Amino acid sequence: MSVAANIAAIRERIAGAARAAGRDPLGVTLVAVSKTWLAEAIRPALVAGQRVFGENRVQEAEGKWPALKAEFADVELHLIGPLQTNKVRDALALFDVIETVDRPKLARVLAQEMDRAGRRPRCLVQVNTGREPQKAGVDPDQADALIAVCRGEYRLPVEGVMGIPPAGDDPMPHFRLLAGIAARNGLAVVSMGMSGDYELAIAAGATHIRVGSAVFGARG
Ligand SMILES: *Cc1c(COP(=O)(O)O)cnc(C)c1O
Repeated sequence: MSVAANIAAIRERIAGAARAAGRDPLGVTLVAVSKTWLAEAIRPALVAGQRVFGENRVQEAEGKWPALKAEFADVELHLIGPLQTNKVRDALALFDVIETVDRPKLARVLAQEMDRAGRRPRCLVQVNTGREPQKAGVDPDQADALIAVCRGEYRLPVEGVMGIPPAGDDPMPHFRLLAGIAARNGLAVVSMGMSGDYELAIAAGATHIRVGSAVFGARG
C-alpha cells in the first residue's frame, strides 16, 4: 500500500476507535513518525495532507526537515527521542513540540535556551511508566514533582505527558497510568500508542498517537 493509502486507513481506524470510546475523532492527532526515512519517502505523506511528524534524533531531523518545512510551511515537528542538553539549542530551532522532557537539568537548559532564542516549543514530560532502567523518562512517582518544577520554576509551556510502554507488556495499564498523571495535573495532551496499539491508546484517552511503520512501512 502507498503511504497515502496507509494514512487514509489509519485515519479510518482512529475515527472508529474514537467513536467506540465516545470521543471526537478530531481530538486525536496522528503524529507520523518519519525517523530513518529520507525526504523523498516523507514527501508523499505531506502531499496526502499529513502535517504532524515525529523524529527521534535531532541531527537526523536537521538533515531533512528544514527543506521540507520550507516547502510545507504548516508542518508541526515533534521530537520524540532523548534530548541531550548540548543539543537543546539545535532542537529548539527546528522542533515545534519537545515530547521528551524527563529531568530537571534538561528543563533548566530548555528554559535558558528558550529565553535566549525567543522561541518556545510546547513541551511534554516523558514518563517511564514501566520503570525500565534502559529507557528515558521520569519515574511515575516523580512525574508530578517534575511537572511542577517545569511549570513553576522554569515556566516551560508544558502541555502534557508522553510514554512508551515496555515491549511485550499489556500496554493498557501503562496507558491508564499516563492518562491519570495528565488528568491529575490538569494537562490536556497525552501522547501514547504506536503502530501496534494506537486503538487501545485512544480508548485510554490518547490525544496524540505516534505511528511510524504503519504509515511508512517497516524501517530498514
Ligand atoms: C519509533 C517510535 C514510534 C513509532 O513506532 P512504530 O511501531 O513504528 O509505530 C513511536 N514513538 C517513539 C518514541 C518511537 O521512537
